[in-house]
Amino acid sequence: MTALFPFDNSYARLPGHFFGRVAPTAVEAPRLIRLNRALAVDLGLDPDRLESPEGVEVLAGRRVPEGAEPLAAAYAGHQFGQFVPQLGDGRAILLGEVVGRDGRRDIQLKGSGPTPFSRRGDGRAALGPVLREYLVSEAMHALGIPTTRALAAVTTGERVIRETVLPGAVLTRVASSHIRVGSFQFFAARGDVEGLRALADHAIARHDPEAARADNPYRALLDGVIRRQAALVARWLTVGFIHGVMNTDNMSIAGETIDYGPCAFLDTYDPATAFSSIDRNGRYAYGNQPRIALWNLTRLAEALLPLLSEDETQAVAEAEAALTGFAGQFEAAYHGGLNRKLGLATTRDGDPALAGDLLKTMAENEADFTLTFRRLGEAVPGPDGEPDPAAVEAVRSLFIDPTAYDRWAEGWRRRLKDEAGDAAARRQMMRAANPAFIPRNHRVEEMITAAVERQDFAPFETLLTVLARPYDDQPDFAHYAEPPEGGGRGYRTFCG
Ligand code: AMP
Ligand code: MG
Ligand code: MG
Repeated sequence: MTALFPFDNSYARLPGHFFGRVAPTAVEAPRLIRLNRALAVDLGLDPDRLESPEGVEVLAGRRVPEGAEPLAAAYAGHQFGQFVPQLGDGRAILLGEVVGRDGRRDIQLKGSGPTPFSRRGDGRAALGPVLREYLVSEAMHALGIPTTRALAAVTTGERVIRETVLPGAVLTRVASSHIRVGSFQFFAARGDVEGLRALADHAIARHDPEAARADNPYRALLDGVIRRQAALVARWLTVGFIHGVMNTDNMSIAGETIDYGPCAFLDTYDPATAFSSIDRNGRYAYGNQPRIALWNLTRLAEALLPLLSEDETQAVAEAEAALTGFAGQFEAAYHGGLNRKLGLATTRDGDPALAGDLLKTMAENEADFTLTFRRLGEAVPGPDGEPDPAAVEAVRSLFIDPTAYDRWAEGWRRRLKDEAGDAAARRQMMRAANPAFIPRNHRVEEMITAAVERQDFAPFETLLTVLARPYDDQPDFAHYAEPPEGGGRGYRTFCG
């Protein structure tokens, strides 16, 4: 019989101090909540076998599959600005890598028991955070935003102790890699230049193969990470996503959204929104994310200094030149995204101001971020130059003072006159840029409560189905597009 996973493990071939070898801890009574069959097929895996008792035992960490070389990776990181020289996978175990349709992917179990890096933690995950990560990462994927994926979620039949006693679960996470900014910091902080170089060469082979042929491959790697992160954070902002814990150990070199602990989406637009209970100063607030991304990338550049040049001054110059690229790349991606949200296929000097005015008006009038943009698409002027009055009312009524919207919309309609293309094409473009469905916090909470308190996974399944098609109108599920009573401002999230 062929192996369940056709493993080809490259990280496990790196030097021994890159990780600790550790097998998952056997759990009592694993039960499959859900297998992501489509993803399994993309990865070249057999979904039926993964759903079989043998497969579920593997997904729960009870059985180590053939070819796996389980390990917990070492990494460091700045947590809320404070450097911690050793963090590492405290509750995640990399089983190995497979090469699927879209390339090499890590197969990692999250919540499968203690590792050499668990410190005071139990190495476990609770059901709620596992379902949140499964749902939100898959929603991000459907929105078209680079992200780690969820292959499976299982309950363990065991309890984990947090503030209360909760059912335990394991998530199978799939990522282009789990190399983080903090992975480089781990070696840099130890003055281990050979380790740093080995990691950089590994990252180049996986994520920036063309950088190997550049004059300065490590500068090219840094440029690649900066480019991906600038694009990623811009995408986050255009859908109202707040990561919540942008520590350097949670920033992926591959440019994927990773670590769905305290993340949440904006309802009411307010750039100062920070939902995470531990983010008391709003360091990781919605509007701070570009600045924090650059701060983290600066930490990466610092870590890479010994590789950027043998000459220290030259190394600093390379780092600075690379980091200088971030602002322009972010602005281009962000304003490009906002223009698409406004139905503008071309760019004009005044566009950022036009978008900025709308956002400011939304903040002042407590308008729902997602609904405002979605409804804007219906309020574009038709062939006769006039918008549908009912559609206009649907948008303006989202503002405390609807006339504030009217004032903004005058300028928008003037700007739309510069655009070629008919109203139908514009509406289509806007529908593809403005999702109707995001993982609304109150729906995510409802889903978690049903699963944890009543073992009812139907809301999880329904939400997954709806969020798989975020840009389509789904009239039967229209209520999932609605914001919570009161705009969801007091919402709080916790690190799983
Ligand atoms: P995070 O805030 O999720 O990025 O986690 C920060 C660090 O804490 C990482 O090194 C995690 O592996 C570790 N960690 C988080 N939760 C646990 C846990 N329950 N047991 C062991 N380590 C954990
Ligand atoms: Mg993390
Ligand atoms: Mg986490």
